[in-house]
Amino acid sequence: MEYRIRGWEPAALFRFFEDISAIPRGSGNEKAASDFVLNFARSRGLEAWQDASGNVVVRKDGSPGAEGCPPVILQGHLDMVCETRAGVAHDFRAQGLDLVVEDGALRANGTTLGADDGAAVAMMLAVLDAPDLVHPPLECVFTTGEEIGLLGAQGLDMSRLRGRTLINLDSEEEGLAIVSSAGGMRFTLSRPAAWEQASGTALGVSVSGLRGGHSGGDIDRERGNAIKLMARLLRRLLREPEARLADFTGGGKDNAIPRECAATLVYPDEAAARRAQEAVRTLAGDMAEALRPTEPGFACATALEPAEAVPVLSREIARAMADAAFLAPNGVRQRNPQKENFVVASLNLGIVSTTPEACSLVFLPRSSVETFQEETAELLTLLGETFGFSVEVSGRYPGWAYAERSPIRELFQAVYREQTGRELRAEAFHAGLECGLFVQGLPGLDAISVGPDIRDIHTPDERMPLDSFARCYALVTAVLARLAGGQ
Ligand SMILES: [Zn+2]
Repeated sequence: MEYRIRGWEPAALFRFFEDISAIPRGSGNEKAASDFVLNFARSRGLEAWQDASGNVVVRKDGSPGAEGCPPVILQGHLDMVCETRAGVAHDFRAQGLDLVVEDGALRANGTTLGADDGAAVAMMLAVLDAPDLVHPPLECVFTTGEEIGLLGAQGLDMSRLRGRTLINLDSEEEGLAIVSSAGGMRFTLSRPAAWEQASGTALGVSVSGLRGGHSGGDIDRERGNAIKLMARLLRRLLREPEARLADFTGGGKDNAIPRECAATLVYPDEAAARRAQEAVRTLAGDMAEALRPTEPGFACATALEPAEAVPVLSREIARAMADAAFLAPNGVRQRNPQKENFVVASLNLGIVSTTPEACSLVFLPRSSVETFQEETAELLTLLGETFGFSVEVSGRYPGWAYAERSPIRELFQAVYREQTGRELRAEAFHAGLECGLFVQGLPGLDAISVGPDIRDIHTPDERMPLDSFARCYALVTAVLARLAGGQ
């Protein structure tokens, strides 16, 4: 193999990154990469196993003199997000990446780079391969399917792990340590639709122009939720018994703050529809005024058209949908006031829909603290019961609560200070990380998540500065040396 990264030390770290980049490893297609790691370990006489999910665990004894130190888990995921630039043909199932070094950074020609989380894989292989590092006994855990629901970590038999210190290598900013992550679940309220027919004039109402964003990372930015705003308009309109609801649709993903929502109401005659249209304009005008500082693009449009035998929801279900959406809590629910930008619990009403079969509301509650998740689930269950909805919970994964005392965090902070003269920032990540599953599976686990700078992850612009990668490896190996009792 002809290597393209030259002049960087330790050379093995960069070579391993190139080796794994040559192996297709999109999520769900990690077998070859998993086998590569297993063979790597066996050829070096290291104890290793692969499980049914394709996870691989490799053990390495402590360096001389450190054999009896407490074992440490290093961890990262084998899989990567496969995105291709428009016009580029790349078969992620068969082809390796075409790496390019440019301006001191590594990228892939026309595709994602997979430094998320190939950087971790290369670091672990380099540590396992190095004959001269000082380190405690190591358990290197290579997981699969992280990007599609933490699948490998969900399937991993944690009982075989001895370490109670975890260094997760799946963060994407140098100088930042993640010290907490949120658990999540998809929470759906639904009830069978009951349709009747109505004729007269239809009033279409749409809310748009909102900024949206990720329901974890952007939840504390006071962004407007199109479904919540529409619910307020509908509450106003459904006060009039002649208003019949034909449609209430908004949002597309539970993990995105909904930017758009639409509704259609049917009135017995045009005069009634025009009165309703006026009421919407007045209320939407007030809302636009109030939202100007945070949502300057907010727009509410209305349109009238004749309606002939249009299916409309029963009055009771229409009220239930509007009332439940209106009452539903939404946004940040709990912060840690001692920390900046530290959201502990939140909730996003992400999707509303009225199909011929069912009416539903889909939420994504997040929290690093399990009891807050339970509280939110209880609240949403009560909301559902109050308005006759059934409740379904799926895709649940645990959070990783912030630990007031964490020896591994303190050690990373001390070593980072010595190496750079700066302070290592510690932040909570308000979305899912595999750490949550390890913390749940290994009681008493002390965990941290670090990584090199990786820009524009999950896009074809993904790139990793090579100097940052080298420094991250130096930080992790220096920490391992301290854990082995060295200086
Ligand atoms: Zn990742």
